[in-house]
Amino acid sequence: MEEEHSIRMDPCSSGKDKPQADQLEFGRKFTDHMFLMDYTGEKGWHAPRIVPYEPLTVDPSAMVFHYGQSVFEGMKAYLTPDGDAQLFRPERNFQRMNHSNNRLCIPSIDETFALKAVKQLIALEKDWIPKAEGTSLYIRPFIISTEPYLGVAPSRHYKFIIILSPVGAYYKEGINPIKIAVENEYVRTVTGGTGEAKTGGNYAASLKAQEVAEEGIAQVLWLDGVERKYIEEVGSMNVFFKINGTVITPALNGSILEGVTRNSVIQLLKQWHVPIEERKISMEEVYQAHKNGSLEEAFGAGTAAVISPIGELVQAGDHLEINDGKTGAIAKRLYDTLTGIQYGKIQDPFGWVEKIEDVKQTNLKASG
Ligand SMILES: *Cc1c(COP(=O)(O)O)cnc(C)c1O
Repeated sequence: MEEEHSIRMDPCSSGKDKPQADQLEFGRKFTDHMFLMDYTGEKGWHAPRIVPYEPLTVDPSAMVFHYGQSVFEGMKAYLTPDGDAQLFRPERNFQRMNHSNNRLCIPSIDETFALKAVKQLIALEKDWIPKAEGTSLYIRPFIISTEPYLGVAPSRHYKFIIILSPVGAYYKEGINPIKIAVENEYVRTVTGGTGEAKTGGNYAASLKAQEVAEEGIAQVLWLDGVERKYIEEVGSMNVFFKINGTVITPALNGSILEGVTRNSVIQLLKQWHVPIEERKISMEEVYQAHKNGSLEEAFGAGTAAVISPIGELVQAGDHLEINDGKTGAIAKRLYDTLTGIQYGKIQDPFGWVEKIEDVKQTNLKASG
């Protein structure tokens, strides 16, 4: 038992150079180590290990390359003013990973063990967490199907991997509203599809809309796949509208990805006694609200940007300016509160943050 649950450590002797604070890009540089674990039908999930970051050797017939059976997660480690590393609601990411696993016929992982693994990896790579304002260490856990087989069936072999990437501040000159195009042709996914799973195929399906969107458009607003009427998400974020004092976000319907940030926004609004509704919201309703002056704010919510105010919506040549193209008060308050909690600068009344013990105290077992 003990053997199975200890993570084999195989640290490298010398590390790579860390990027300068002003050269941090999203997802281009990776740390010195990664976590890996294998799955086979006979052994289940086994052989957890932390090893030097390096390319994988995977058979060209591995199922992931052909039929896309894979899932991923995205979260961050933050450095507090006291120099502690901490995570934001990480248990929800591993819960969601198992939810995605279930949809993609991938065997579930032990969520508690995955959390232990990510903490152990970050403790080892703590020096890679950048220190400058707004920067963080992006965490990418993912699972790929590795069985060498071209038949269409769930793979019998998998790898669960965690890699880490130091990332810069999303907003370099303060939180900034973006311009969004309403997407009337392409859809991300449909109810009954894989929209509520974090799987690469949804992203592959989303690329075309972004490619054809006009200059200056940051992201597209996704509508439902059946009627092209109801709003679902914005880019790869959940979306919120404030109309006449009430914040509205599309209800989870099977094609919307349930964001950790979305859930946190809802909880904060409830605590602040700001009316919040999870329900269907049509583009027509937003149009009308804009016309009669009751559309007060719109913003996206996700781990990367935290809160992304929408300054303008473009649909079929119409330009809907929101809040004079400026960041709204609720968006700003949510951004300041969420980042304040994440970076340990303000008190966390929800028990959302989880500290990572320093590497000396972590149980580093060298198993044989
Ligand atoms: C990951 C993701 C989100 C945001 O989720 P967070 O947990 O808040 O980062 C929203 N929509 C899609 C499609 C996503 O993949």
